[in-house]
Amino acid sequence: RKKTIAFIGLGRMGSEMAYNLFSKRFTEATDAHFVVCDAVADATTSFRDNFHRQFPGANLHIVDTPQDAVLSSQTVITMLPSTPQVHTVYRHQGGIIPTLQSLSSAAGTLLIDSTTLDVDAARSVASSVTSTGAAMVDAPVSGGVPGAKAGTLSFLVGGPPPAFDRARPLLATMGTRILHCGASGAGLGAKICNNLILGVQQIAVAEGMLLGQKLGLDPAVLAAVINSSTGACWSSSVNNPVPRALSDKSPPCEREYEGGFAMALMLKDMGLAANIAKATGVPLPLGEAAEKLYAHVIAEDPQLIRKDFSSVYRYLARCAEE
Ligand code: NAD
Repeated sequence: RKKTIAFIGLGRMGSEMAYNLFSKRFTEATDAHFVVCDAVADATTSFRDNFHRQFPGANLHIVDTPQDAVLSSQTVITMLPSTPQVHTVYRHQGGIIPTLQSLSSAAGTLLIDSTTLDVDAARSVASSVTSTGAAMVDAPVSGGVPGAKAGTLSFLVGGPPPAFDRARPLLATMGTRILHCGASGAGLGAKICNNLILGVQQIAVAEGMLLGQKLGLDPAVLAAVINSSTGACWSSSVNNPVPRALSDKSPPCEREYEGGFAMALMLKDMGLAANIAKATGVPLPLGEAAEKLYAHVIAEDPQLIRKDFSSVYRYLARCAEE
């Protein structure tokens, strides 16, 4: 159990993160042990097969439950869709917290949750975990699937300094900026504020790019102008929603908006921001409008739910044709 690292949640982000973490650890110590777990069997088997192709002989095992992950590992990383799944994995029978409670000593175990979820729910999970003697940090990420793949994510970490110090070298195998934001929940708070801005920004870029084309501007010319002017932002320069607007062919719009950050997850994050705003009395006029638009787009075109959130552009462009 001592040096084993478990990764629960091998989705778009988790599979890339686990690959970077495991491959770096395996290169340092070929006797290292790794464990993976996901609710979808295909996610774990394809990850294992791919990892074994690159690193034959690596000790990598699939486990069926979070309980098996905790029983076999000293470090457990979770990367799940949101609050309900974190609740299931941590609190349900066969979950992380009941298992920690059953150990004679959980003191050596470190939990890192990189999911973007509700701040209060995360604080409550962390408090239950730490009451068993284990350590925990919230460590949501910024940088998207390309950052996860390249190992250049930013980790926004909340938790006590000793837990942060233990988590930092592991996070450094998956990201380049590891920022300690404060106590438990602080990393998530920072992440949710960032995504509130991103959700609004992506819609603003979609509107500007669409309007410019209606004026007869070539999307590549318009993108070049914006990206060297004051409108420049991540949504215009990296995640531009218009095909062929950037010379770089990596934005999701170049592959029918596949991959990237699912619109459903962006809608979820706008909801997380709205909850905090409600609880603290902060007005979010643009955040509210953006949340409504993402919900409306998904209701009108359910195909877009799993597509990158920049496909909000496609929806607006179709409306403009009608
Ligand atoms: P995803 O839906 O692709 O992956 C989630 C994985 O969790 C899936 O493989 C799913 O099968 C697994 N899962 C769900 N319930 C489970 C359970 N009970 N037990 C075990 N496994 C379970 O999501 P993603 O895009 O990888 O995002 C993960 C998190 O990272 C989300 O909170 C998201 O908001 C955040 N995030 C995503 C991006 C992005 O660009 N995709 C960027 C930054 C942050």
